Order: sequence, then structure tokens, then C-alpha cells
Amino acid sequence: NALRKAEIKKTKTVCTYCGVGCSFEVWTRDRHILKVQPVVDAPVNGISTCVKGKFGWDFINSPNRITTPLIRENGRFRPASWDEALARVAEGLRAVARDHGGNAIGFIGSSKASNEEAYLTQKIARLIFGTNNVDNSSRYCQNPATEGLFRTVGYGGDAGTLRDLQQTALIITVGSNLAENHPVFASHIKQSHKHHGQKLLVVDPRRHEMAERADCFLRIRPGTDMVWASAMAKYMFDHGYADEAFLAARVNQVDAYRASLAPFTLEMASEVTGLSIEQLTEAAEMIGRAESVCLLWAMGITQHSHGADASTALSNLLLVTGNYGRPGTGAYPMRGHNNVQGASDFGCLSNVYPGYEKVSDEDARQKWARAWGVAPDALSAEPGLDNFMMVQEAHEQQLRAMYIIGEDTAFSDADASKVHEAFSKLDFMVVQDIFMSHTAQFADVVLPGCPSLEKEGTFVNTERRIQHFSAALPPLGESRPDWQILTELAARLGHVWNYPNPGAIMAEAASIATLFAGVSYEYLVGWQSQLWPVKADGSSTPLLYTDTFPFPDGKARLYPLEWQPPMEAPDAEYDLLLNNGRMLEHFQSTNQTGQGGRITSLSPNWFVEISSQLAQQRQLAEGDWVMLRSRRGELQVPVVITERVAGNVLFIPIHHGKPGVNGLTGDHHDPDVNTPAYKEIAVSMQKLARA
Ligand code: SF4
Repeated sequence: NALRKAEIKKTKTVCTYCGVGCSFEVWTRDRHILKVQPVVDAPVNGISTCVKGKFGWDFINSPNRITTPLIRENGRFRPASWDEALARVAEGLRAVARDHGGNAIGFIGSSKASNEEAYLTQKIARLIFGTNNVDNSSRYCQNPATEGLFRTVGYGGDAGTLRDLQQTALIITVGSNLAENHPVFASHIKQSHKHHGQKLLVVDPRRHEMAERADCFLRIRPGTDMVWASAMAKYMFDHGYADEAFLAARVNQVDAYRASLAPFTLEMASEVTGLSIEQLTEAAEMIGRAESVCLLWAMGITQHSHGADASTALSNLLLVTGNYGRPGTGAYPMRGHNNVQGASDFGCLSNVYPGYEKVSDEDARQKWARAWGVAPDALSAEPGLDNFMMVQEAHEQQLRAMYIIGEDTAFSDADASKVHEAFSKLDFMVVQDIFMSHTAQFADVVLPGCPSLEKEGTFVNTERRIQHFSAALPPLGESRPDWQILTELAARLGHVWNYPNPGAIMAEAASIATLFAGVSYEYLVGWQSQLWPVKADGSSTPLLYTDTFPFPDGKARLYPLEWQPPMEAPDAEYDLLLNNGRMLEHFQSTNQTGQGGRITSLSPNWFVEISSQLAQQRQLAEGDWVMLRSRRGELQVPVVITERVAGNVLFIPIHHGKPGVNGLTGDHHDPDVNTPAYKEIAVSMQKLARA
């Protein structure tokens, strides 16, 4: 027994299922995962995890893993050696660059891979191909929130940490199903709400668990949150709740913003949002009287045709009430993927280098060119194509090649049939992944990468916290850590970088990007972490904006807005609105959580939620099958009757089906950030005969 115990390896890792960033030990023997063991020193979660973090690891040894490179030949994939596959990738990309230029290639980096891998992805795009066509899945979720923060307060990250959420007087969540999407954050908030007198205000079309627990729940009409937030801000000014001293000392554009609020009366807000004047007043009084406010939001805000404006309106409200720069205050857009923050931080965005240094800024361009040993004009000063634009341009055959790492874009992008057509038109496509995803089916070459348990690196969680993880297992079969694949590909393209390990990649990024000046693996040992901005001495910034906002004059900016209604709303033919989102037990296309084992068995099927009132009107019983049709497509799904939804609003999980809910979504999108309006789908519903 003692001998068996001695064979157990205990490795610190960071969960790959959501932006909370729980860390824990994983206990392994050979390739078997014996258990996940949380530890009290873990900086975010301590001894907590959720069901995905605890049981969601069976996919590691799934027989469906890709374990060897694959090359498409005569319409079928055949196994290939690494030598042949990498030569084929280098040759394919080179040919497109030669014939059409580097801007004919697009790169999508992974929001599940490490910061170091994100850094290398954008370095290959920018340095080797001279293009800024690089993006990550934050385009599908968090870019509107980041834009809202850039417009108002300057940093594209959460203002503080979980500690701030726990010590604030009032937590507001808007468009965030926290208990299912960020379960460990939710459990800490439930504790502070229950035991420490914290108030909870929930604004959402869906009565989810946090709504049930709220002191005030506003079941708002979908897509109207910007009006709600603006009406709240006007109420603050009109009723003496605005923090005039804070505004005078620390905020610009106050008068212009205040004037822009004139249309947002309670009466107008009531008409648009469907909330009563009494409900609006109760919420406004809660906000106005609270000593400190933290405001969380997620996809219910951002996946709309004006999500950037709604995010801006929420940040405006915090500025008006002086809720930035003090403990227990600030904006908390909740990051979805485990490293969607880090993929953006480390440069997988079409307009910025790592650390959000603009590609159009001549000083930044010169600095990056110098560091990478090329002339400044080797790097493009033109912002590149984002995910949305890449698909459009591939459809038009302007973009000729794509390299997609760890993202199932064919499943998760909106208007799936258009995405599939676009991929089919590419001259050359590379997918680097751990499974044969929907996207990999379109590839010319598939390269087997590794999940986090088989490699070393760092992630950034939703608090801007950088955490290190180590390899618990060797790579399965011939799969390789993604940073090694990218380094070897670069060498075949004539750029020999010789990184001995991921720590050397981070050292390079930190030596160039000011935001990460003091980030180092030296400080990331054990359970230690760093929160950016990190100064050269290694010190972190847990709470932003305590002294200044990162604008030239150090002041924040109130940002005037006009109300723009959703682009697609129910009408006579498509009379229902299909909301959609995640379930607690699953992750995205279920590539990881649907590989059998404990987590899959917890929630194997999908469904559509409808209210009892609607069920009665349509004569539907629990378990009946319905056909949902949008202007783009149709799908069949069984009914669950629940008061979580109301009126003409339905809800469907995003995880299942082929092509799933994105067979119904359209290509309408937020014009400011090109995020698809996933949550604006008008549908019809017909009962099917099948049982
Ligand atoms: Fe993983 Fe998020 Fe669950 Fe923590 S809360 S264990 S990070 S899925």
C-alpha cells in the first residue's frame, strides 16, 4: 500500500472550464486521474470547486483524442508524421502568402490554451506573415464588455477581485447566470449575501438560481439593459445620489453625459424594459443608498447587437455613483473561457499587441519590431480582421487560409451554415486541437495539441490573476504541447526561436509589454499568483483605479449613448424570442464534457425551456417535441416547462445538436465590436408528432 501511495503524483493545475480560475492538485498514477484535491492555499477558490472542476477530466484519456497529425488526401484524413504534417502546413501557408499576401491568412488563437501559446500565435501572424489577422473567442463573448471599459475607465479587465465582491454592500448582476456559469464565485457571493448582510440585485430575463436568491429581481425584457442602466444613472443625478465630489475630481465629460440622459425617464424605461415604475424605483433606491457597489455582467449583455453600448452604460452607472477605485466597488464582466482574458491580454486581438498596445501606435510598433529584431515596416500598422470579418472575407474568397487553434468555430460562431460555406471555400486550413471538432472536419491538416494537464503554462482568470500550471501527465500518443508545435512551425518558416520552456516565452512577453513588466515564473511558484498590471518589481494590482484611470489626464470618461433596439425581434411569423446559454455541467460544444464518464451522465440531453402559460396556450406537455424555426434554419428539441422563463421568451442550452443553436442564429452583430447577436433570435414553434 505504501508503495502504491508513493506512485501517486500530485500536480498543481488550473481549471480549464471557466474564468473563475480555480486551482487545485490533481492526483495521478500513470495516466489515471485519481482525484482532484482542492487546497486551502488556492488564491481564488480555496477548498471549493464545482462539478466540472471536480469531475470534468475523463476526456483526457478519451479514445476520441487525436493522437497523431492528420493530412486530408482524396477527401479523407490519413495519419502523418510530424515532419510531413509540419512541412505541409509551412508549405500551404507560404503558398497563400506568396500568391495573395500575408493578409490572406487568418489566425484564431485558443482561449483555452496558455498565455504563452496566445503570445506565439500572434507572433507568428504578425512577425512571420506581417498580418494582424488574429483573434480569439472573446470576439464571441467579452469584446463588448472590454470595449465598454475602454471607453469609460481604460483597462479591459475586472476592477478588483473576488475579495471585493465579498466585501461590497450591493452586488448587481445583469445578464449573468452566475450559479451555472461561474459556480465558485456564485457560492462565495451566496455566503456573503446570506451571512454578511450583503444585498443582491439581479437583472435578467430568466429567473435562475441567483434571481431566486435576490433581494430584488427585475425580469427585464431581453436586450433592453442599456435603457435600464441609463435610467438608473439619470435617477442618481435627479435624486441626489450622484457622487458629485468623485465626478468633479476624477471624471470627464460629466455635463455632456448628463445631458444625454434626458430621454431615459422612468416612464420611458418602463415602456422599453417591461419593468414597472415601482420596480425601477426600488432598484434605483437600492443602488443610490448602497455604500459600495460591484456590478457583474456576462453574455446576457454582450451577445446582443448593441452589447458594447449596454456594457458602457453599466460602467457609466458605476462612475456616476462613485463606485470605482475603492475596495468593494467596480465593474466585473465575467470571463467565460478559462483563458479568454489571457488570450486577449497576450495579443490574440486584431488591433493590439500583447498588453493592449495598439498596432496603429507608431511607438508601440517600433518597440515590438525592435524586440523581435525586424524593421518597423515588417509589422503592419493596420488593424487586421477579427473572427467575424475573417468568416465574411473567407466567404468572399478574399481570405484564403486559416489556422485555428482549440476553437470549434464551425459550432460556436453564429449563422453556422454561412461559416461552413466560408470554411469550404478556403484554399488551405489548419486546425490544432485535441479532438476532431466540427471545425477540424474542414481542415487540410489537423495537428494534435495537448490539454492543460499535459503541458506547462499560465492562464489569466477573470480577476486579471496570472496563475501557473504544470504538466501532470505526458502528452497522449504523438500529441504535443501547443507551444512546441507553434515553435517548430516557426522554425520551418525560417524563424528559429529556441524557447527551452514556456517560462522563456513569458519572459520575452514581459520584457516587451509594459502591462506585464514584472510577470515571471519566479513569482508564480506554488500557489502564488500575480494580478496585472504587474510592475517591474513583480508587485501586483489587485484593485484598479485607486489613484488614476489609465487615460492621459488620469481621469475616467462618462460616455454618452443613444438607445438602439435589438436588430432582430419577434414578429407575426417568428413570434417567440430564443434566449440561450450554458448549463452547469457542460462546456461549449461538449468536446470535453461530452466524452462520456461522470460529467456527461449528469446532463446528457438538451431541451428548450418554455413557461407554463405558453405551454398551455400551445397545448404542450413536458417532454413533447417541438420544431423551432428561425429565418436561418430549424431544429427539433423536447420541451421543459418551467417558470425560469416567461412570456414569449424561450431558453435553450448552447451545447448540443448538430449544428445546434447556431443553425438558428444570424449574422447580425454589434457594429462596434463585431460580436454576433447570439441572443436575438426570433423563432416560431410547432408541436411535433414524435414522442
Ligand atoms: Fe472550474 Fe469554473 Fe468550476 Fe472553478 S468554478 S472549478 S474554474 S468550472
